[in-house]
Amino acid sequence: MSRIAYVNGRYRPWRDATVHVEDRGYQFSDGVYEVCEVRGGRMVDERRHMARLERSLAALRIPMPMSPAALGVVMRETIRHNRVGDGIVYLQITRGVARRDHAFPPPGTAPAVVVTARSLDLSGNDALAARGVGVVTVPDNRWGRVDIKSIALLPNVLAKQAAREQGAREAWFVDRDGMVTEGSSSNAWIVTEDGRVVTRAADTAILRGITRDVLIGAISAEGLTFEERPFSVAEALAAREAFLTSASQIVMPVVQIDGKPVGRGRPGPVALALRQTFHRYAERG
Ligand code: PLP
Repeated sequence: MSRIAYVNGRYRPWRDATVHVEDRGYQFSDGVYEVCEVRGGRMVDERRHMARLERSLAALRIPMPMSPAALGVVMRETIRHNRVGDGIVYLQITRGVARRDHAFPPPGTAPAVVVTARSLDLSGNDALAARGVGVVTVPDNRWGRVDIKSIALLPNVLAKQAAREQGAREAWFVDRDGMVTEGSSSNAWIVTEDGRVVTRAADTAILRGITRDVLIGAISAEGLTFEERPFSVAEALAAREAFLTSASQIVMPVVQIDGKPVGRGRPGPVALALRQTFHRYAERG
């Protein structure tokens, strides 16, 4: 089936889905994005994703190109055009097209909007979750505002590639104090020996994942103890369980860090239970 992308007001066949060479996203990574899970053809947690999008845009002083409701329509249309049942929808907004100059373009320059959607192999993801994944650690050398979901992802790209080259699924960034911040495209969690579910506070050092937010509610509702604090690589290795979260992977057990086993080296019951129950707490569009 041929894919369709929304590009600046038009639904275009894949081969024609192009942006201008002076799009500021292309020139400067001057833009933001969102990735929303699609389940049964419907967006999951659209409202929260839109709220985070508005926060990211406001932080970079890029105007909303249209209302959240209108963006929702475009995203749903893109899902429909691509016949996505289970998958993801990707939205990118840049500061628009203008003569290359680092400073902002003239007021009134229209932000550029791209939306794509694609299917994901849910059973493949479930099989992966049943085995668990490995992560490697890398120094967190990103800028100080990674709470903004910006398209400037070069450190994340290099971190993910380092993981792949070492046979791992994800890279965990580690700050100067030896504390894990987050993954290259996911949030990082552990379950301590006494059963507390721990993740770092959502300050400016991590992206506040929508999956993370929803899961915090699920953890409390399921009667588990939640703790928001940093943890070190050593603590993660000594933990009973570790896992990561993102819109495309939901809850993914982590069974190895830098080639060493976490707990018994198998997916833990807390991670698997939270993976099972997650969608009871998420909002279906
Ligand atoms: N942290 C980073 C750096 C990410 O890129 C992502 C998702 O892409 C996440 C965390 C998880 O966010 P969400 O749960 O909203 O997908």
